[in-house]
Amino acid sequence: MKLETKYIVTPDERVTLSHHAPSHTGIYKEKRDTKRRLKKLHKQMLELQELLYAESQHALLIILQGMDTCGKDGTIRKVMSGINVQGCDVVSFKVPSTDELSRDFLWRAHKAVPQKGHIGIFNRSHYEDVLVVRVHELVPKQVWAQRYQQINDFEKMLVENGTVVLKFFLHISKDEQKARLESRISDATKHWKIEESDIRERAYWDDYMQAYETVLQKCSTDWAPWYIIPANKKWYRNLAITECLVETLKKLDMKYPEPTIDITKLRIDD
Ligand code: ADP
Repeated sequence: MKLETKYIVTPDERVTLSHHAPSHTGIYKEKRDTKRRLKKLHKQMLELQELLYAESQHALLIILQGMDTCGKDGTIRKVMSGINVQGCDVVSFKVPSTDELSRDFLWRAHKAVPQKGHIGIFNRSHYEDVLVVRVHELVPKQVWAQRYQQINDFEKMLVENGTVVLKFFLHISKDEQKARLESRISDATKHWKIEESDIRERAYWDDYMQAYETVLQKCSTDWAPWYIIPANKKWYRNLAITECLVETLKKLDMKYPEPTIDITKLRIDD
């Protein structure tokens, strides 16, 4: 089965994250088993990105979400390795500024959507407004509760205007998070990555799982699907995401544009 169909959340599917194994690695036992497939996928990805850029009829928006240490940064590094950085924009969504807070919650996301021909990656996204905001009650329930529909409408508008939207939940286990946090503590080269908030937020694990389940249930749509990617094993996470990207781009059936001049009449002087 294609990994693209294996991990997709079908619209209105009831999602219980504890039923999805974060350590799943499909038919593969270890990283080196995936090398050939990944190499082929990277080659395809590069060709498809070139086509996307040349045709400039579509943009691809990739949304990455997950618990702290789930590997958003690593995914961006690995999945995007080998593609042309000229056509790729990464935007990280932090605690909103006062300027951003004085607008509707989708304003900053809309501004960051990639232009046609480009691949845009959201490292966190407008989904934070129904995740951290819900878990910590940063706005009243009646405000965040209406955001699911608003997000679906927003994404539909993007898709209708030529943006392909793919959303990946990087699913790690609580034990794996513990191991990753501990390794940041014991490795001096990773100290810069540790934030007190990571430890604090871990205490809200169950609340986050509930908030994610609602997102996955309410916002995986025909036009902008969510994928639950097993992410305990980084190499499998990279393979699964790359395959989803390649399969999606292939379906766009893109073509190089016709030349705007008569090529047969071109002569290059000596
Ligand atoms: P990351 O953890 O993604 O590497 P940071 O450590 O800078 O990056 O964390 C960004 C923080 O901003 C996260 O704790 C996230 O929950 C928070 N954040 C993002 N969007 C919002 C939002 N809309 N409201 C409140 N907090 C947000």
